[in-house]
Amino acid sequence: MAGRDAVVLVPAAGVGSRLGPGGPKALRLLAGESLLAHAVRRLVSAPSVAAVVVAAPAADLQLVRQLLADLPGDRELIVVAGGAVRQESVRLALEAAPGELDIVLVHDAARCLVPPELVERVADAVRSGAGAVVPVLPMVDTVKRVDEVDRVVATVDRRALRVVQTPQGFRRSVLREAYRAAAGDPDQAVTDDAGLVEGLGGAVLTVAGDEEAMKVTRPFDLVVASALLERRLDRHRL
Ligand code: C5P
Repeated sequence: MAGRDAVVLVPAAGVGSRLGPGGPKALRLLAGESLLAHAVRRLVSAPSVAAVVVAAPAADLQLVRQLLADLPGDRELIVVAGGAVRQESVRLALEAAPGELDIVLVHDAARCLVPPELVERVADAVRSGAGAVVPVLPMVDTVKRVDEVDRVVATVDRRALRVVQTPQGFRRSVLREAYRAAAGDPDQAVTDDAGLVEGLGGAVLTVAGDEEAMKVTRPFDLVVASALLERRLDRHRL
């Protein structure tokens, strides 16, 4: 049985332009509560999580502190200003993370309905010795590669492909090293943290993901998330 030995970094400073107009994505409402509050409520329900560090939009620090203060529980909640790209937001959150916690998870606020069991699965894999862990799902669609004018050039064998979710988990030293190597070169194209570890030749383990850890990106996803939430409220009120 694990103690509380993990900190979760939550990049939540994105604008969310693909969701349409309406302010930073993490602060958009789902069933009357921000996506960020939904996400943090679930993260702090996982037994391993001792602390959460949120990288918030710089203009909304007070609002985010208030919204987190309203959540139940006794875990440490830290809010810092995020950066211009996701990679920068994670780096700033990592700098603010309590030093004694050796397991570092990184979770997108946009995956607001993450099941606490998934958080535990990822933390457990790091605790068992993995340096970097990503939750994955199989691809359900056929995938094709196209050229610059959208003509199909190949059909990719989907059996070897996985869709990657968060939280991703890291031994702290592994994530720190990856971010140190990437320092000064924040890249819009870096969409996940394990990618930085891979870039250094590090091994990345996969564990089973969960469809409920879906990412809210487009208006359609909000519809799916609210349907999931209604179904969940019947089962266990989180
Ligand atoms: O835009 P996208 O959905 O890929 O962003 C993934 C996560 O990274 C979101 O939770 C978003 O708030 C966060 N992010 C951030 N800082 C940025 C851009 C995105 O914290 N500058």
